[in-house]
Amino acid sequence: MGTAKDDADRRLGRRALLVGGAAAAVGTAVLAREELSRLWWRMPGVDKPRVAGAVDFRGARWVGASAANYRVADRPSDYRVDRVVIHVTQGGYASAVKVFRDPGHGAAAHYIVRKDGRVTQLVRELDVAFHAGNREYNERSVGIEHEGFVEDASSFTAEMYASSARLTAAICARYGMPVDREHVIGHVEVPGTDHTDPGRFWDWDRYMRLIRAERERARASASPRAAT
Ligand SMILES: [Zn+2]
Repeated sequence: MGTAKDDADRRLGRRALLVGGAAAAVGTAVLAREELSRLWWRMPGVDKPRVAGAVDFRGARWVGASAANYRVADRPSDYRVDRVVIHVTQGGYASAVKVFRDPGHGAAAHYIVRKDGRVTQLVRELDVAFHAGNREYNERSVGIEHEGFVEDASSFTAEMYASSARLTAAICARYGMPVDREHVIGHVEVPGTDHTDPGRFWDWDRYMRLIRAERERARASASPRAAT
């Protein structure tokens, strides 16, 4: 049986072990904050840190859209994200980026994928980009534009498919979305739209196959190596 003092010492000892005193407690708070910023999509109700120029997809280049073309939000805390919407720009990359930066345009997507596979991010996934022409679908989705024309099959290059599939696979993983045509849709499938993109030349079978392959690749590299 211990005395009251022993108990106090033990409590102190356990507390010291947990946080290592006041100085270390500050360190723990900083560490927790860093962990939060890495796992922001899993943390409901947290005011997410925003860093200028930060992107949600590794390797993407940041070119911010006009603030008039999206709404600041705190997804997925305020809106659940359960759709990826595929678009085609009906024009070149440069002109698409230009209109997304134009406050008079009234629309922008989160990402645009160039013919050479280069990915540019214009709106953070935290925010609601105006890309689907349907408020509910804007709030629940991530929009990806693809450089080109719906009536020009040559718009859709192997590099574009590969790169876009990597991006969509990462988005599906982030929000726990199944990789299927219910969750990865074309703008044409958004209720009430008069848009036809991505159009008949967009190879959905190929695209979905590539996304699944990317998902498997990510799973394989994330799982611990088997002991031999
Ligand atoms: Zn569209």
